[in-house]
This record gives sequence, structure tokens and C-alpha cells, in this order.
Amino acid sequence: MINHPHSSISELDKQYVWHPYSSLTDPIPSYEVTSADGVYLRLSDGRSLIDGMSSWWCAIHGYNHPALNAAAKGQIDLMSHVMFGGITHKPAVVLCEKLASISPPGLNKVFLSDSGSVSVEVAIKMACQYWISLGMSRKSRLLTIQSGYHGDTFAAMSVCDPLTGMHHIFKEVLTQQFFAPTPRTKFKEKWVEEDITDFKKILEAHSAEIAAVILEPIVQGAGGMHFYSPQYLIRVRELCDQYDVLLIADEIATGFGRTGELFACNWANIAPDIMCLGKALTGGYMTLAATLCSEKVSDGICKGEAGCFMHGPTFMGNPLACAVANTSIDLLMKQDWKANIDRIQDQFQMRLEPFAAMSTVAEVRCLGAIGVVELHKPVDMRTIQKQFVDTGIWVRPFGKLVYLMPPFIITNEQLGTLVDSMYRVLSNL
Ligand SMILES: *Cc1c(COP(=O)(O)O)cnc(C)c1O
Repeated sequence: MINHPHSSISELDKQYVWHPYSSLTDPIPSYEVTSADGVYLRLSDGRSLIDGMSSWWCAIHGYNHPALNAAAKGQIDLMSHVMFGGITHKPAVVLCEKLASISPPGLNKVFLSDSGSVSVEVAIKMACQYWISLGMSRKSRLLTIQSGYHGDTFAAMSVCDPLTGMHHIFKEVLTQQFFAPTPRTKFKEKWVEEDITDFKKILEAHSAEIAAVILEPIVQGAGGMHFYSPQYLIRVRELCDQYDVLLIADEIATGFGRTGELFACNWANIAPDIMCLGKALTGGYMTLAATLCSEKVSDGICKGEAGCFMHGPTFMGNPLACAVANTSIDLLMKQDWKANIDRIQDQFQMRLEPFAAMSTVAEVRCLGAIGVVELHKPVDMRTIQKQFVDTGIWVRPFGKLVYLMPPFIITNEQLGTLVDSMYRVLSNL
């Protein structure tokens, strides 16, 4: 092994490593993190940053958590992994039972997989195989809403927002799906029934070809950070029943309390037929995802010609990830998590308000532990990333959206520092 000097990590990184949505010919340098603890990321140059991103919605309990560390270490000494075909184990069984018991009613069958995008692929495949089993294979397309984000694999990509997902580039390879407009009625606004008209028209005309509706309930994440009315979701559920179309709720970003409800579907008191979970599932420790479905869906699939669901990832039900997920969910459930999210929401409401007066800011909004500052113009990542780091915070905007979703353990004081630093950077734009 070549022992590279510490300082060359960023050079080697530039030479060999792809980062998410990054260029290798014109790379933006990445910051080397050597450790993380609580809400802090420690850089190789010794600086500590307050993390405003929870590593993309994941690290809800913060980093280096003693209970999660212990769960991982304990499981490693028993077994890190074992195949899931023909074999079962306690960490997975306990997790599936736990997920069934805390999720919206009726979602009692759990399919484990390795990442959010895969759990979306699994959900879409479940919906399609359900209709194939019932002899209605024409129902094979999806209806979704604009500004959505469901992952980077092909079926998931086909239901991402056509603009931000760059559908025109992948025109030849993506399945054409149905898109209804983004819900216009915002979270706290009075419902207007016309908001669902276009969605309903598509179902009216095409329900014979549509297997399922897929959407992010209440909060559209990476596709625009919109918060929409629970009434929209209630109407979607009713229309899916009316037109005999399955409903897939992608709760990969919203699950586990982030919006102020344990699952965003709870805002509307609805249960989808299929639900995707990921991101915060293991408290940000390991990659793990789950697709939950109702017995109607699992029965339909298993009573069909194939006789089983045609899917089975190699690392399905990884015991290490399941053990950490169990501990992470227990940690969340045994605290007054709702009061804590309300606290963060109150802090955001108070502390983000001054941003609205900046000429560069179009809108400020928050829901639960999510705070969003939408600008008039996209940020220049190359300069703004360094400015955030230089003020001691880790914030990763995209486009016009500068947003915060800190670990739930963040104190009011840390949150104050995070927002004040962000204010300083944005007021220099
Ligand atoms: C992040 C995300 C995904 C994709 O999950 P990965 O783990 O990145 O594959 C899918 N849907 C939503 C809503 C997400 O936020």
C-alpha cells in the first residue's frame, strides 16, 4: 500500500473519485471529513462545522451516537451479513414487525432493500406485478406530480420532475409516465378543489393504463422543497380508490418524524397501498431501505402466475443495518420526538423570518425540522460552499434553494449559530 501524505487526499479525490452529480473535468473540491460527533463534522484541517443537512435527511440522532455505535458493534460480533434467501434472523424480523406497527394502518408486509432508489424500484415493480397477476397487464404506467424526486435509477428517474431530472437528455431510455401539475395549495392554505382537477382528468382518461400513483406526501424534497396541503393527499387517496389505481407514498425523506408527524401521510390520515422508507431508517449509519405494502398487494402478487414477488437483492435484510435501524427507531420512539420537532420548527419560524426581508430572497418556509430559504437566482456552488464552511457550517444548497434539515438533537443555541452564519453568507450575495 502506498502511504499517501494526508494533504494529498483531496488531490487523489480529484483524480479518481466521482461525487454525486459532479464533474470530473471541472471538479469543485470536496472537503475531507475525518470524524463526526453530535451535530459537528470535523474537517481534516481541524475545523468543526455545524451540520445543517443531517447527511441528506439521515443522521437524525447526530453522529457517533453511543447507542447506535453499540448496536453496530454488538451485531458485528454475531454476524455482519448472511444471505436472506431461505434464512432469516432476529434483527430483520424485529425491524419488519416494528415498521409494520408504526406505519399507517394496513402496511404489514415489508420488503427490505439496500437504498432508497431500489425501494422505489421495488414499489413500482410490486404495483406492476400486482396488475399482471390480476390479468390486467395494460395497467403498467405511473402517474406522478411535477417537482417530485424519487431517486436516480431508471424507473425512479422516470417519475422525477422532467426538468430537474433532465428527462430530455434521457428521452430515449426513460419510460414515459403521466405528470400532473405540482399541488398549488400550500401546507397551511385553504384547500381549493380545482387544485386536483388536472390530476383527476388524467385518471379519468388513462386509469386503464395506470398501475399506480407515486408521490412524496406533503413535502416534495430534492425536486423543489414544496410543502403542500394534506387535503391534496386526501383527494389523491379517494381518487386512487375510485379509479382502481394503487397509491405509492415515497416517505424516504419525510419518514421518521422530519415533518412533525412520524410519517407525512399521517398529516392526511391516509394509508397508501405501498410505502417506501430509507434515509433516516438507520439514523444515517448504514444504507438500508424498506418497501411496505398491504395484504391486498402481497396477496395479489403471490396468487398470480409467478407465485412470488420477483425480486431479491444480495444484501437484502443486512443484519448489521437492521440492528442499527432497530436501535435508531427505538431511540426515536422512546423520546418525546414530536415536542422536539415542534421546538425546532418554532426556532426556524422565529430565526428564518429576517431572511424574507433580503432582496435576494423569494420565500422563506418551514415545516417540522425543515427550513427553506428560496432565492430569486440559483447560487454559485463554487463560491457559496466555501463561504458556508468558512463561517463554520455545513449547508449544501441546490439551485435556488438553501435549506436546513439538521439532526434532531441540535440545541437552540447550535441552531442559532447555524442560522446566523447562514444569514451572514446570504446577506453577502
Ligand atoms: C433520497 C430520496 C430517494 C432516493 O434514495 P437513495 O437512497 O438516494 O437511492 C428517493 N425518494 C426520495 C423522496 C428521496 O428523498
